Amino acid sequence: MSEPGDVIYYDGRFCGRYDAQLPITAHVVNYGTGCFEGIRAYWNEEQEQLLVVLLREHLQRLLRSARILKLDFDAEVDPLVESCLELLARNGYRSDAYLRPMVMKVGETIQVKLTGIPTVFCAYTIPMGDYLETGRGLSLTVSAWRRIEDNAIPARAKVNGSYVNAALASDEAREKGFDEALMLTSDGHLAEASSANVFLVQDGTLITPEPGDDILIGLTRGAILELARHDGIPVRERKVDRSEIYAADEVFLCGTGVQIGPVTSIDGRTVGLGKPGPVTTHVQERYLSAVRGRTTDFAHWRTPVYPRGNG
Ligand code: PMP
Repeated sequence: MSEPGDVIYYDGRFCGRYDAQLPITAHVVNYGTGCFEGIRAYWNEEQEQLLVVLLREHLQRLLRSARILKLDFDAEVDPLVESCLELLARNGYRSDAYLRPMVMKVGETIQVKLTGIPTVFCAYTIPMGDYLETGRGLSLTVSAWRRIEDNAIPARAKVNGSYVNAALASDEAREKGFDEALMLTSDGHLAEASSANVFLVQDGTLITPEPGDDILIGLTRGAILELARHDGIPVRERKVDRSEIYAADEVFLCGTGVQIGPVTSIDGRTVGLGKPGPVTTHVQERYLSAVRGRTTDFAHWRTPVYPRGNG
């Protein structure tokens, strides 16, 4: 009997998890030349429905990443949406899941280049609950590793190889006893966490680093900006100094994996009152109830996997 996650999609066909394998000579194995997405799907028991969060937006970002990488991949978004929905359905999920589509240079050449290398679209899924322990507040540190800059490897593209930068920072943080790392731009402004965006709250305003400050322009970040505007919370996207994050009333991380992760200490300084603040709690509750389909608000964030009306 197959388990959720057993079926994958590789180059136009559905197959078993281990039926598609890359030779060690594949370009992406050698140079990290691919881009990917991380997408959540939430199981709604009441509706007996699996709800995929911001699916089209993630696949649009994947296509933009592929363009930056000259991945010779000129797919339209609609067929990718259909393949991803069918993949989740074929895996028969009745629990929360994570979807990982990728566009990779699989051609076999030793040359370091981007053009003229065969490219493949593939996707797999895994069951996924909470990624970081978000029940208690997170303790963060500002990493000694700088965020890779737009003129090195563009942060707005979700490039496989650039996750070495994220891994260096998050490992360093965990080795020092923190939960996660915040990374600065090369000119010392706040960029983001190793695999999440960051918001702070000052005097009731939500503030987050602007796209020009070497961030992945997160879709959760976008959803929070939309939610805040909808709920009348003032928002600003701007440059953020390192010391602002130490002085903020509230801080939280956001991303597909972490969802909304309240931060209670940074580099040994207590954030606010040392527990999730009111704006963070509001955003967290509103976001989670929207992605889980427990409210009719923000219905455009959710794509159902199973035919409607089967539950
Ligand atoms: N920044 C980085 C570096 C990430 O890897 C992620 C996770 N994809 C995010 C931010 C958050 O992006 P999203 O909300 O689209 O998941």
